[in-house]
Amino acid sequence: MHVGIDIDGTITRHPAFFAFLAGSLRAAGHRVTIVTYRHDRASAAEDLAAMGVAYDALVSWDPDIVPIPNFDRWKGDVCAHLGIELFFEDRPETINHLPAGTVGLLVVAPEAGLVFYD
Ligand SMILES: [Mg+2]
Repeated sequence: MHVGIDIDGTITRHPAFFAFLAGSLRAAGHRVTIVTYRHDRASAAEDLAAMGVAYDALVSWDPDIVPIPNFDRWKGDVCAHLGIELFFEDRPETINHLPAGTVGLLVVAPEAGLVFYD
């Protein structure tokens, strides 16, 4: 499997779980890609290391490559391009724009509750 994971609001919601999940997946021969809107890639890598989250690839938004990001679609485009099969994410808008080949797994903040869209 190729599993994608968002950082903010997802890994940061429960770092110990995602550290365990990512490490276990990789140990079992699966691929883990971190996909984040953060444009400071070095800072993201430092935070992941501090949280103990291992990964095979880190994809961060780069304003020099995508100057006007469409936050609702960019991660879906990344998932399609890389062949990510399952993606953990906390934004329903992003889940709604994942490609057909990617199963979205929504992390819900208890204080926010579920958000439903028509
Ligand atoms: Mg997020």
